[in-house]
Amino acid sequence: MTTIFPLLRTGWTPSICEVTDSEFQKLLTDYRSFEEKVGRVMQRICEPFCRVCPTPCCRVDICREAAESPFLLAVHGATQRFDPKKGYLGCTGCRLKAGRPPVCHAFVCDKIFKAQPGDERKYALDCLSDLVGFVGKKVSQGRQMVEAMSETHLQASNLPLFQNRLSTATAALTALDSYFTRGDALGEVGMALLGKIRASPITFRRA
Ligand code: SF4
Ligand code: SF4
Repeated sequence: MTTIFPLLRTGWTPSICEVTDSEFQKLLTDYRSFEEKVGRVMQRICEPFCRVCPTPCCRVDICREAAESPFLLAVHGATQRFDPKKGYLGCTGCRLKAGRPPVCHAFVCDKIFKAQPGDERKYALDCLSDLVGFVGKKVSQGRQMVEAMSETHLQASNLPLFQNRLSTATAALTALDSYFTRGDALGEVGMALLGKIRASPITFRRA
């Protein structure tokens, strides 16, 4: 394994974001770009609902993971201050473009989910919400990458698996972006990609 985490030796302070290892830097750049794109596609779907929501679902205890996870700190670079009362929630939504806990991308409330017209769209939305969590799933000693809370655990992470998952999720995101943004059909290729993220309902299986 390459020594990709020397930057973490200074502890869990913003200084861990002074990345010097090029391999880790590239991984962070790719992950940031991927996560930001997931956020943009999701925002287009959710914004009409969230903008007028009387009971927003963001919670400080969820934000806290982004302030404490060494991996998420490295992703968002600690450029936004964690507020003990509001976390990362600002007046126009989350202040973190990337480095959010995976659950922030995974949660789609019933109101939004039920408003999706048809089973295919619901399935596509489920896949979109799974994407960020899929990338880090079980890569750090059987746990999510964001759950690694020490340098030792991060060093033991399966980075090749993380990179492979990121490639798969990025390809699925391209199909989902076309589907949700341009109204393109998922097609067999898109469905095959989504099937790697989440098993498709039986009614969508191709012969
Ligand atoms: S996801 Fe649902 S519960 Fe959360 S802010 Fe948006 S509309 Fe409200
Ligand atoms: S989306 Fe942002 S503000 Fe909301 S819970 Fe997640 S980190 Fe906190």
